[in-house]
Amino acid sequence: MRPAIARESAMAHHDTTVLLIEDEPEIRRFLRTTLPQQGYQLFEAVTGQDGLAQAAARNPDIILLDLGLPDLDGQEIIRRVREWGAMPIIVLTARDQEQVKIEALDLGADDYVTKPFGVNELLARMRVALRHSTRASTETGESVFTLGDLRVDLLRRQVFLSEKEIHLTQIEYKLLTTLVRYSGKVLTHRQLLKEVWGPLHVEESHYLRVYMRQLRNKLEHNPAHPRYLVTELGVGYRLRTE
Ligand code: CA
Repeated sequence: MRPAIARESAMAHHDTTVLLIEDEPEIRRFLRTTLPQQGYQLFEAVTGQDGLAQAAARNPDIILLDLGLPDLDGQEIIRRVREWGAMPIIVLTARDQEQVKIEALDLGADDYVTKPFGVNELLARMRVALRHSTRASTETGESVFTLGDLRVDLLRRQVFLSEKEIHLTQIEYKLLTTLVRYSGKVLTHRQLLKEVWGPLHVEESHYLRVYMRQLRNKLEHNPAHPRYLVTELGVGYRLRTE
């Protein structure tokens, strides 16, 4: 009994469909061997136009999107898919596509991996993104979030570290619970500023720096090497999930 359960949870659900939109043959070949082994059903598109057509026809559970396609730019694809679809989109980016990557996240992509990436990194990102999309659609939000010795009681609005209550200001609490709501996912500076301070303040990155420092001072054992509140360099922040 036990091994069967372990195998079940380690693998993706068998009918989880993935649409890969990618023009590089090496990456398609790599994912063609690895993703089906994990129980994913993979569909491939080589151009943006074909990707859009397949996304509409197949309505996949998750999309992996290369940002450097020959015919359409990635932002255009995200914009058009988001007109009708809410499935997670993970963008595959090159190292020099920093700005494009941030724009993609702001447009509604869920996460990114930078090439060259390992399969475990990609699978972890896919699991987080898929978990969030299921949770959003069933709306079964849990009221207590735990991560290591950190515990956030969302109902009572209390935060504990090793069972000791930590007092947060209103803004610190809002910042933390926004990260909790999207735990495991990267949030861009703009997304966090919009959620916590409102749409008029999306350019005020210094707010975020100040409050993130305060939050780390209260919640991290070593604020200079955060375990929970992780910086995604040049992009934003992520609350680690494991
Ligand atoms: Ca490419």
